[in-house]
Amino acid sequence: MSTPANSTEQKVWLISGANRGIGFGLVNNLLARSDVIIYAGAREPAKATELQKLAAEHKNLHIVKLTSGSVEEAKEAAAVIEKRSGGLDYVIANAGIAYSTSRLEAVTLEDFNEHFQVNVVGVLVLFQATLPLLLKRTTRVFEAVSSAVGSNTNAHLFAAFNNGSYSLSKAALNYLVRRISVEHAEDGLVAFTVHPGLVETDMAQKFLERPEAAAWKSVAIKPDDSAKALLVVTDKATKDTNGKYLNYDGTELPW
Ligand code: NDP
Repeated sequence: MSTPANSTEQKVWLISGANRGIGFGLVNNLLARSDVIIYAGAREPAKATELQKLAAEHKNLHIVKLTSGSVEEAKEAAAVIEKRSGGLDYVIANAGIAYSTSRLEAVTLEDFNEHFQVNVVGVLVLFQATLPLLLKRTTRVFEAVSSAVGSNTNAHLFAAFNNGSYSLSKAALNYLVRRISVEHAEDGLVAFTVHPGLVETDMAQKFLERPEAAAWKSVAIKPDDSAKALLVVTDKATKDTNGKYLNYDGTELPW
């Protein structure tokens, strides 16, 4: 059954990387609201069993196929959303990878290229496909889930993580979204990046098992708590949020 399109009451959301981790938490928390239509991006919808379960229970949740960096899939998802809902209010570019375990001196080009493809190109492609839909509505929020490790200013805090490619890709993502915020300020777009915290997902679990992470274990938070906090930040987003780099508690991070 299709969800009513163009309702002024309902906000239309798209979240990438929604089949697990923080993305799944965002979808799950949004479903508690009555005024939302949610498009959940997953690269393999047929295998996204938890999302499928939710979608069977909630007619306002739709799964779309989204592989980061695939122009074709991003365009197809945008076409489906436009047909069904008319536009988008919120895009949260959340999909990402982080498996680099090397200092920069040892990073392979393969490792670097994969991180760049998913964490940077993937967000650019999603932005290009969804901008026309955001401009059809008045909310116009484009939010990318970055990381505190992408901060130039704080590079010294995270060098010991040995995650060269990942940090580089998130620093590039920060620039990408900051640049989008400048290029589209006059469109009323609200583009910003967020650090979701150190979150106990599959991604962080591998990091937390490493000896260099010992001191960080005590600050790790649950995916559901990260998602709740990110939605508070997102709900508060206004024109003044455009171009910001925010922590999950809403405070600003240094570029
Ligand atoms: P998870 O590894 O738990 O989930 C990652 C999500 O991204 C999955 O849905 C995964 O899909 C998707 N994904 C990965 N590669 C691709 C791809 N090529 N195309 C489409 N989707 C893809 O990670 P988190 O939930 O922890 O991470 C979410 C975001 O938060 C990421 O951008 C990450 O960098 C950021 N972040 C996380 C932190 C943490 O402590 N967890 C800290 C700072 C930032 P699939 O299941 O198909 O692989």
